[in-house]
Order: sequence, then C-alpha cells, then structure tokens
Amino acid sequence: MHLITLIPGDGIGPEITKAVTDIFTAAQVPVQWEEQNAGQTTFDQSGELIPQALLTSLEKNRVALKGPITTPVGKGFRSINVTLRQKYDLYQNVRPSKTTDGIKTRYEGIDLVLFRENTEGLYSGLEVYDERLGIADSFNRITKEGSRKICRAAFAYADKHGRKKVTLAHKANILKMAGTLMLNACKEASNEFPHIVFEDKIIDNMCMQLVGKPEQFDVVVTTNLFGDILSDLCAGLVGGLGVVAGANIGDDMAIFEAVHGSAPDIAGQGKANPTALLRSALMMLHHLGEHQHADRIEKALEATLKTKEKCTGDLGGTASTSEFTQSIIANL
Ligand code: NAD
Repeated sequence: MHLITLIPGDGIGPEITKAVTDIFTAAQVPVQWEEQNAGQTTFDQSGELIPQALLTSLEKNRVALKGPITTPVGKGFRSINVTLRQKYDLYQNVRPSKTTDGIKTRYEGIDLVLFRENTEGLYSGLEVYDERLGIADSFNRITKEGSRKICRAAFAYADKHGRKKVTLAHKANILKMAGTLMLNACKEASNEFPHIVFEDKIIDNMCMQLVGKPEQFDVVVTTNLFGDILSDLCAGLVGGLGVVAGANIGDDMAIFEAVHGSAPDIAGQGKANPTALLRSALMMLHHLGEHQHADRIEKALEATLKTKEKCTGDLGGTASTSEFTQSIIANL
C-alpha cells in the first residue's frame, strides 16, 4: 500500500480530486490517501497558507497528488506551487502532450514530453523594485548545476523510455550568459547519451515549429519561463488544459498536479473535467511502479473520451463531472 499526500486545493480542486479518488477506489489501486490542504482554504481556517502538517506529511510520504491552488495576482501571498517546488528542489516539471482519439484537435500524431526547469530562471523569486526610480528588476538566475540537472533528467528520461531525440529550446543568441549555460549543459548531457539525437532551437522559432509541425518533437527541455509558456502551448495542441498531466519531480520527492488552475468561473457547478488530474495521478502510479493499474485506468479513460456525450462541456459533451467519472468506472 502506498501512502500518498492528497492536496485537494481551491476552486474545482475538491471536485476533480474526488473524481480521481473514486476511480482509484473502484479500480482497487493500492494507495491510501493522507489529506492535507494548503492555500486560501487553510488560510481562512487557521491563518496558515502552507500548514506544518502538510509539510510533515510530504516529508514522510515523498509523493503527493495536488489539486490547483488559487494565487492572487500582483499582491498577496507568493505562489504555493513555486514555494513547494523550491523548498523541496522539485527541479523537473514534466508535462507530456499526446493526441488522443476522441479529443478533437487540428493535429495528429503528437507525442512529446516537455521538461521545464522548475526552480530557477525568471521565477527564482529574486525581484527588486526601486520606488524612487520606478524600476522593477526580476533576475533570470540560471545556475550551472541547475542546468546540468534538468538537461541530464531529460536525456535520462529519453533513454529510459526509448525516445529518439531531445530538443533544447533557448535564447542563447540574446541571453549570452544564461542561455549559453543551459546550451552547454545540454551538450554535456548529450555526450553521455550518444544514441539520442540532440538538437537546439531558438525559442521563437521553436514556437513556430510547434504550431506548424509538432509531431517532429519527442523530448523537449527548456528553462522555467519558456517552459511555462511552451507547456501550455503544447496543451493547446492536444486538446487544452483540461486534459494534460503534470509532475514536479526532484531526486527524492514528487508532486503530481493538473496543469490548469482552480477555474473559479466553473467551481462548484459540476462542470470540471477531471482528466488532467486523473492523468497526473496515472503518472504518479507509473512513478510508484504500479504500471498495470495505470494502464487499466488509462484504457477506461480513453474509452470514455471516445463517447462524446459522456464527456464534460469543455470537450463538447454534456456530462457532469460525476457522470464522466461514473463512465470511466463503468469502463474499468
Ligand atoms: P484556469 O486554468 O483556472 O482556467 C482557465 C480556463 O480554463 C477557465 O475558463 C476554466 O473554466 C477552464 N478550465 C480550467 N481547468 C478546467 C477543467 N479541469 N475543466 C474544465 N474547464 C477548465 O486559469 P486561470 O483562470 O488563469 O487561473 C485561476 C487561478 O488558478 C489563479 O489564481 C491561478 O493563479 C491559479 N493557477 C493555479 C495553478 C496550480 O495550482 N497548479 C496553475 C495555474 C493557475
């Protein structure tokens, strides 16, 4: 039995986490959930944004499934996601994007996995504002070690999963120092895996190539800001934020979470699509070595996705979150 920390989150978070736990119970997956929340919900209850009980649970279990958490824009508290990623050095943000039968898009044959550096770059949290001059500086901190770790992780993943090519997206033509550090780190990692093709593309060209011919990409690695943008772009290529998985992975802890936010516009209305969180939970099962359970649930999900009327509104269907969930359970 695997003990997993479950963070329901805000907005649609509790609805989609319930969908996942219902499916896991029906499929008799050997996991036991330890529920601990964070964010606005716990702040309103106890004045704590990230309660110590959550940190203790994470440090004990080392694996978590997390719903989306609302982050105020501009003022207010710092993103809890960013805080957890930095605190536990969850330096890999892994986001697979794959075309699926039943999810209509303009593309076919996409099957790529994006590795976004998750702790540095423009999101390092190093910002200063000089009120007198009216100047705000946000530092794009890139380290040699951070670049080495994320580039090596992308190649090691490609090697383990029989993938053929790693593409680095960068801006080393303009960011002469920060961009070159990442480029050199990737070249070094590629020397360790000579059987995997390595190519690099400048970020603006990468965007155009992704929209024009996305099926050419296999594993993609990039910095934090570029990865944040590219991963949503890739989600858009395969059906949107409601259907893609995500994971924050370090050397000894992993937090799996949907890529989308807390969707306050549809919260509490039974409209949320739980596919993204379910797919993140299936990544978690692979991480735990529970491949058979993951494959069985993935097949049941794919069967439901092929029946339009069983899908939620964002996928063109009419089903509620719980009808969608029951359909997956019926297909197990
Ligand atoms: P969002 O992803 O919450 O919503 C964007 C649009 O997509 C909305 O119209 C929403 O209804 C729809 N949508 C999102 N997920 C859906 C789902 N599962 N099923 C059906 N429709 C879905 O983005 P936002 O509105 O920019 O952000 C809302 C809040 O979420 C913000 O506070 C933001 O900071 C936070 N956020 C959190 C995370 C996270 O915790 N990982 C990620 C992104 C945004």
